[in-house]
Order: sequence, then structure tokens, then C-alpha cells
Amino acid sequence: MIVTRFAPSPTGLLHLGHALAAITAYESGDDFLLRIEDIDKGRSRDKFIAAIFFDLKWLGLSWDEPTLRQSTRMGAYAEALAHLKARGLVYPCFCTRAEIAAEIARAGEAQHGPEGPLYPGTCKVLTMEEGLRRMAAGGNFALRLDVSKAAASVGPLTFCEHGHRFPVDPVRFGDIVIARKDMPTSYHLAVVVDDAFQQVSLVTRGEDLLAATHIQRLLQALLRLPEPGYAHHALVLDDAGRKFSKRDGAVTLGSLRDAGATPADIRARIEL
Ligand code: GLU
Repeated sequence: MIVTRFAPSPTGLLHLGHALAAITAYESGDDFLLRIEDIDKGRSRDKFIAAIFFDLKWLGLSWDEPTLRQSTRMGAYAEALAHLKARGLVYPCFCTRAEIAAEIARAGEAQHGPEGPLYPGTCKVLTMEEGLRRMAAGGNFALRLDVSKAAASVGPLTFCEHGHRFPVDPVRFGDIVIARKDMPTSYHLAVVVDDAFQQVSLVTRGEDLLAATHIQRLLQALLRLPEPGYAHHALVLDDAGRKFSKRDGAVTLGSLRDAGATPADIRARIEL
């Protein structure tokens, strides 16, 4: 039995790109689940969750209840984080964005990964005593995954994309932020914990998240979680060839509906 999911963040209205992601997931599985990725409390809004439910139903999709909300799952993420900490794979980072940018400028050049310039490793060299002292001092900090050490501890990995195996290369992300002082998770950690919890067996999503699979497979291996298959799909592009974003009000499903579009029209626009 194939279990798929659609996992929007309720930080804006759904647009054509989301419709493609949701319908692809719905049609690729036997069981279709919905997960609301609302760990970003500052940007998530209940009105957008209500709009997600409305738009999906309007498209003719139904999903198995309960709908999982990531904001209710902090305990599970904290447990996963504790496991990574216990293995010595996480270190505190006290750098501000400005300090990271300055460090990169000083070094003259930065290695770039899929999510931008790689963290230059400034806080990796802090002793454990120094890290604990600065954490206790009350300032802000992030927790980073020591990606090289983590990758070495699990050995070579692969992931299965559309039925074909590809090697996993997590080191190109650098030491990603895995949690923050007041938040026991990050996007990557929450996704792998919840894909396992919801027993998702096939992850379908836009190809802008293909690179994220490298880090997510590493986290699955570290946390001994089952490995889902992956099937990334092409993105819906606007007339200028750019991917739609939440700022493109004109292509929200709500505005298209208000202008008279039917669910069949939406499917035609995204070539389904
Ligand atoms: N919440 C993510 C987004 O809205 C999708 C996460 C995923 O499919 O892995 O882009």
C-alpha cells in the first residue's frame, strides 16, 4: 500500500504549484495524508489552514484524518534531537547572520550548497565547556548538525527517486541548523520524524526539494527511521519561466476560483 502526503506550510494561500503537488500526491498513493507544516509560529496563520482545507476540498481531494499539525509534535522532535545530541552530532552555534556573512567575506570565498553559502564552521571549534557556558549565558543560539561526522557514522547511503537509486551527498549542505534555542526542530528534522510517524512510503513534492532529500536521508539513517521512496515533480512555472511563489497573488487558487475557474481549469493549467 502506497501512502503519500501533501505538506503545505500555512504561511500564505495555495497557488497553482501547490495544486500540482497536492493532486500528484493524491493520485500517486492508495492513502493520502495531509500535514500542516506550521513550526514557524511567526508566519503560520489559522486562516491559511482553513483556506488549505477549503481549496483541497474544492479540488475534489479528501484525506485520511487526523490531519497532522507539526506545532503539536514538538515532543517527538525534541526526542529525535536528543538522540542526535547523545551521539555527539550536534553543536551550538552563536553566530548571527551578520557574523556568518562577515566570516565568509573575510575568507574571500564561500562554498555554496543547495541552501546558500555553507556555514564556515566558526562555532564548531568551541570546546564543550565554552558551548555550555555561552548557552547558559542566555543569548540566542542555533544547534547545527556536524554533517561530516554524521555522514561518516552511518556510511554511504542512497535514495530511491522514481524507482532509481542515487548516492546521497549530505556534506554539500554544510553544517545545517537542526534546531534553535526555543525550537527543538528545523524543517528537515520535522519532515523526517513526521514522514516516519505518518508511515509515508512515497514522498511526492516539487523538484525544488530534491536536494533536501540528501539531508533528509541522512537524518532518517541517523534516527533509524524507515526509508520512503521519492518522486519529485517538475514545478509549475509562470510565463516568464519562474516558479510561482506565495507573493504571486494572481495565481492563488482562491483568486482563480473568484475569476470563474473550475477545478478542471486548474488541472488544465498545470497540465494534469
Ligand atoms: N512544507 C514544505 C513546503 O511547503 C514541503 C515539505 C515537503 O514536502 O517535504 O514547501
